[in-house]
Amino acid sequence: MAIGSGVIHKYLRPHKKFPHVWCPGCGIGTVTAALVRAIHSAGYSKDEVVMVSGIGCTGRMPVYLDFCSLHTTHGRALPFATGIKIARPDLKVIAVMGDGDATAIGGNHFIHTARRNHGITAVIVNNNNYGMTGGQYSPTTPLSNFATTAPYGHIEPPFQIVKLAEASGAVYVARSTVFHVRLLERALTQAVQKNGFSIVEAVSQCPVGYGKVNKLGSPVDMLQWQREHAVNIKAAEKMTKEELEDKFLIGVFVDRDIPEYNERYAEVIKKAQSTE
Ligand code: SF4
Repeated sequence: MAIGSGVIHKYLRPHKKFPHVWCPGCGIGTVTAALVRAIHSAGYSKDEVVMVSGIGCTGRMPVYLDFCSLHTTHGRALPFATGIKIARPDLKVIAVMGDGDATAIGGNHFIHTARRNHGITAVIVNNNNYGMTGGQYSPTTPLSNFATTAPYGHIEPPFQIVKLAEASGAVYVARSTVFHVRLLERALTQAVQKNGFSIVEAVSQCPVGYGKVNKLGSPVDMLQWQREHAVNIKAAEKMTKEELEDKFLIGVFVDRDIPEYNERYAEVIKKAQSTE
């Protein structure tokens, strides 16, 4: 059932933190709205949700939403989220991060939070650069593209967040785009209900930073690019390698069940107490 826009207003902090800092045409607002609808659909009350962020444009998200929230240091959203989840396993802990925050500065935390399978949902808004701090390249900036720190073209190949997440042990891994907002919302709804470390990558547009320096046109042009280059993982099975050459996949890549960290930790406590 579609959720009306009125629902979103119930989750905002209108009298405290608005107007927001996001640039016109930025995709983060669309991801924020999809996440709010997902939390609403999953049936969590505001007091059951803790939203944690690091630094960056995406890091501002918890500032505008009326959940218990922590706005922490660059790359450290996941360690803070881990502490909350261990102390209060009953809470739904959601870490929202940009690509630089999650996979460069916070890359080590990302890998090990997935490996340990902490019951956290990570939402990664991937716009291929560090937007707020000045448009520097990140681990997802495509080879040869431009950034303020790559004025002659980027010489490092990118990695895929979804593959890193899968290899590291996440129990749920999905990717969508801001254009494919219904898929994004469905993936977020599944992710926030998963027991274990779940990750949703939202491919988004940063028209002011990455878009401008790479001459990608208006925000609408960038959304059109997402539409034309994203292929659903199921549709991709019927396509040739040549057809997929300049495309990227969206959909659910991993959905598996592995005991969550707190469950294993509870077992250790039980064993230790039984041998006293
Ligand atoms: Fe969005 Fe980029 Fe502006 Fe940040 S700098 S708010 S990512 S458009």
